[in-house]
Amino acid sequence: MTMATTTDYYELLCVSRTADDATLKSAYRKLAMQWHPDRNPGDAHAEAHFKAISQAYDCLKDPQKRAAYDRFGHEAYENGMSGGGGRGGAEGFSDLGDIFDTIFGGGFGGAGGRRGPARGADLRYDMEISLEEAYHGKSSEISIDVAATCDTCDGKGAEPGTKVRTCNLCGGSGKMRAQQGFFVVERTCPNCHGSGQVIENPCRTCRGEGRVDKQQTLSVDIPPGVDNGTRIRLTGKGEAGPKGSPPGDLYIFIHVSRHRIFERDGTTLVTRAPISITTAALGGEIEIPGLDGKRHRINIPAGIQSGKQLRQRGAGMPVLQGRGTGDMVIQIDVETPTRLTARQKELLREFQDTETGQESPESTGFFARLKEMWDGIGE
Ligand SMILES: [Zn+2]
Ligand SMILES: [Zn+2]
Repeated sequence: MTMATTTDYYELLCVSRTADDATLKSAYRKLAMQWHPDRNPGDAHAEAHFKAISQAYDCLKDPQKRAAYDRFGHEAYENGMSGGGGRGGAEGFSDLGDIFDTIFGGGFGGAGGRRGPARGADLRYDMEISLEEAYHGKSSEISIDVAATCDTCDGKGAEPGTKVRTCNLCGGSGKMRAQQGFFVVERTCPNCHGSGQVIENPCRTCRGEGRVDKQQTLSVDIPPGVDNGTRIRLTGKGEAGPKGSPPGDLYIFIHVSRHRIFERDGTTLVTRAPISITTAALGGEIEIPGLDGKRHRINIPAGIQSGKQLRQRGAGMPVLQGRGTGDMVIQIDVETPTRLTARQKELLREFQDTETGQESPESTGFFARLKEMWDGIGE
């Protein structure tokens, strides 16, 4: 059996823990191309590595699995396979998805309970904010429907005043062990669903669940500098746990909407500034309204060309949970006038004459010399 050297999923894919979906996908594609068995025929190491990165991507591309992976960590994932003699190999690989679901109780939190007590599911909330809000940060109130502890039974699931008894199938442990291929897989007891107890008279409010859906209003603090894909965790604000166990977490996924002036590249704000041909030729000053609320005066040096980039230090985005701010980059677009008055045309022709040297034959202009050159080639 080939053993893949497995490390942290993020490390396997060479991405940061905050990498967004697009980054993950491209990182995976690159690595998959490199390590694909078709490209490395007969190389067992390459094959094992290819499986490992596929498995890592398989987990991280799924927001629910990723949140669970982030929460439980790699250790929990590894330890979930008891008595199977390690991971790796083709047989193991095909079973991993199933084992993963078992470990994490069907995806997102759920009634797991293998390590520590069972807890409620993690939840995801997508929030769209403007670039200005990403710059300044914001406090926001959100309203979510979430399973909360039932008040009637205090989360116990039993009708008040009635008794619960120990489950006789699992003897109160809430777990059962089963052989699955090479592995011994621990499963939640189907009789008591992991609680170890059986309710004889279920609470009528929550039908024995211990939880009911409630609308909750939460205040969320978005720190300055968040970007697309930033996730903010609100500990304990996810679903209430089954039978009064601890709640899961709520993850706020940030989406920053497009801005009419700025494009963002990390902490750099990029914008285009159209300037007239006279400003380009003679130099001058333009004003750009920054996200900091200031009007930044940008000096345009005489003779600037279209496409030239100017940098205004410190006028970019703040560093998330850090100090300082990035820069603003202004890309110059020299605009050719399209509607000219008769007087303007007259002036430009006059300018053209000085340039082509018709006015003073001694100082032959560049374009005139260029034309001569081309004419010369044609002969
Ligand atoms: Zn209840
Ligand atoms: Zn049981």
